[in-house]
Amino acid sequence: MSKKTIEDIAVSGKRVLVRCDFNVPLDGGTITDETRITAALPTIQYLLKNKARVILCSHLGRPKGEFKAEFSLAPVARRLTALLGQEVALAADVIGQSAQKLSASLKDGEVMLLENVRFHKEEEKNDEAFSKALASLADVYVNDAFGTAHRAHASTEGVAKFLPAVAGYLIGKELSVMGKALEDPIRPFVAILGGKKVSDKIGVINNLLEKVDSILIGGAMSYTFSAAQGGKIGKSLLEADKVELAASLIKKAQEKGVKLLLPVDTVCADAFSNDANISVHAAGQIPDDLEGLDIGPETIELFAAEIAKAKTIIWNGPMGVFEMPKFAVGTVGVAKAMAENSGAVTIIGGGDSAAAVEQLGFADKMSHISTGGGASLEFLEGIELPGVAALNNK
Ligand code: AMP
Repeated sequence: MSKKTIEDIAVSGKRVLVRCDFNVPLDGGTITDETRITAALPTIQYLLKNKARVILCSHLGRPKGEFKAEFSLAPVARRLTALLGQEVALAADVIGQSAQKLSASLKDGEVMLLENVRFHKEEEKNDEAFSKALASLADVYVNDAFGTAHRAHASTEGVAKFLPAVAGYLIGKELSVMGKALEDPIRPFVAILGGKKVSDKIGVINNLLEKVDSILIGGAMSYTFSAAQGGKIGKSLLEADKVELAASLIKKAQEKGVKLLLPVDTVCADAFSNDANISVHAAGQIPDDLEGLDIGPETIELFAAEIAKAKTIIWNGPMGVFEMPKFAVGTVGVAKAMAENSGAVTIIGGGDSAAAVEQLGFADKMSHISTGGGASLEFLEGIELPGVAALNNK
């Protein structure tokens, strides 16, 4: 069901409450990565251009339901003021006198920011009275916080019950790019999954097995699959209680005619350290005293060849311990192979793979980098996100 967007409603002269994801990393009062702020600009600029009275809100960190100065959105208000080239006043509270006074005095084309919604414990409880109080500040609600769309909180879900509720450009883009890939992909459609735990990705693998042509599995979770095939995995991470499940996923892939590729070789280390001694071993033949920390060179070639043939690619989860340069080679290899396939729709499913792609300088070569780690995982699992479900249908 497609959802109404800001372009489907009249906003001129209206007070528009916009839920953004301004949960930016801070070092003291300095924003160290402003990607989430710049990602919200198209929606804010559209509303201002169309003479709305814009009331922004967001959470920041985990203040646990009370006012804590270190979680104030003040640095975000300052940065937004500079980026928009106009004053973004910060309310001293969320639904209190300051918020009420500022929102009532807004003029067409003006913008303000409420304080951190998580200064109220009612936010995460999706409390109805709090949702109503938030709604009373505005005439229209816009959700553009994809990163928290998988949470049913007051400012992401509850408030939508009391106002006309539509999607902003960022949520709209996330849904259309990832939705198209899942519903009507240009084939071949290849999914690459990595990261730590099979248990975190079971839902995603299950759902993607219904949709993709190939699935490539790397990262620590590949060792549980290797164990399921009777392989020796040494001291590599193993989820012993997921071995049977891994075996059943391998079987499901066979039944569905989906090509499931596991690593054929592994970079092993004698310690979990960038100074460790490393050696490459065939998958399933890892010596007892070594730990697999990255996919090996043959696997990179195998995966790159599959990626080169694809027309739609979704990637979630690093291929190894990419935080240490010695074990980042597999993750770099996958990012590079995706970046080189300019004819394909390339989607990075948020979280660590998004960070890796940005760190490695491949960000502008990808079709879409999701701004939500948890949200994009749940979307790929086929779960309806509460923050999206609550919006008005077209
Ligand atoms: P996830 O949050 O599930 O996407 O997992 C990301 C984490 O998995 C990163 O911090 C990686 O360092 C870690 N990781 C990936 N491969 C391995 C591996 N072979 N051994 C241990 N940790 C790994």
